[in-house]
Amino acid sequence: MSERINGHTILIGLMAYPIRHSMSPTMHNNAFAKLGLDYAYLAFEIDNERLPDAIQSIRTLDMRGSNISMPNKQKVLPLLDKLDPAAEMCGAVNTIVNDDGILTGYTTDGIGFMKPLADEGIDIRKHKMTLAGAGGAGTAIAIQAALDGVSEISIFNLHDETWKSAEHNVAVINEKTPCHATLHALEDRDDFRKEIEDSFIYTDATGVGMKSLENETLVDDPSWLRKDLIVFDTVYSPRKTKLMEVAEKAGVEHVLNGLGMMLEQGAAAFKLWTGEDMPIEYIHHILFDKDETK
Ligand code: NAD
Repeated sequence: MSERINGHTILIGLMAYPIRHSMSPTMHNNAFAKLGLDYAYLAFEIDNERLPDAIQSIRTLDMRGSNISMPNKQKVLPLLDKLDPAAEMCGAVNTIVNDDGILTGYTTDGIGFMKPLADEGIDIRKHKMTLAGAGGAGTAIAIQAALDGVSEISIFNLHDETWKSAEHNVAVINEKTPCHATLHALEDRDDFRKEIEDSFIYTDATGVGMKSLENETLVDDPSWLRKDLIVFDTVYSPRKTKLMEVAEKAGVEHVLNGLGMMLEQGAAAFKLWTGEDMPIEYIHHILFDKDETK
């Protein structure tokens, strides 16, 4: 790393709080080094209060841009000059690009969701998706899928603090895209089953099944899942969630976890900053191959 940094090195940031645990600095700095790109990526602990100064510093320091994570994903919007359509519809930004002092906000989680499907030769356009969750991940997925041509999305959510976000997602998709979105209560199990049975793909963006909720799944009955249904769980730790086990028991052919989404959302930001493709397999090896049980 020290050999790479010189007087021309351009800075890219990550602004969030807390953020020291993030894998993004390892991801991007290894990708820059591998491709011989003269950038450095650093994490900065920035909360809502210090966000305006931090965003201005992107211009002042002539940084190439920054990733933005919680609690700043929504708060950053009025501080930017332009928004990509997906970021505007989501009302959230996870990537900023600085073009000569003009800051544009993007959201790459939805791109990260779509890419692993395409890589498996799965085209969900013109098909119906049932999606559980309307938090940050569920929102990005719903908006990108609608923009990319998914024909129908049935969004299921608990009546919790993210219900308003679910209502917003349905309204903005129906207003701004040809996709038809509907909102359903996750508590209505019969409706949930019916919509999954009627779908081409079922996506869980709730985090149920990740480490602290490891033995839980919203769908525990294999008879809900057809063999030709696509099942996508956004969780990547553990690699195989309870939902994925149920899907395998049902004989589902295409079962995806969130690892590809995590790598591809980073790769999409990397491409926006550098114009280059991230060496995904190499980065996968650096981040995960040492401990596949993580
Ligand atoms: P969030 O807090 O913004 O939203 C959480 C969502 O899950 C809400 O819709 C909420 O209603 C729902 N939910 C929470 N607990 C639930 C439960 N017990 N039963 C049913 N629904 C429940 O969180 P987020 O940022 O959207 O992240 C959600 C999950 O998505 C994360 O836990 C993570 O596993 C996954 N994720 C993956 C990636 C990736 O790149 N693979 C990226 C972001 C998030």
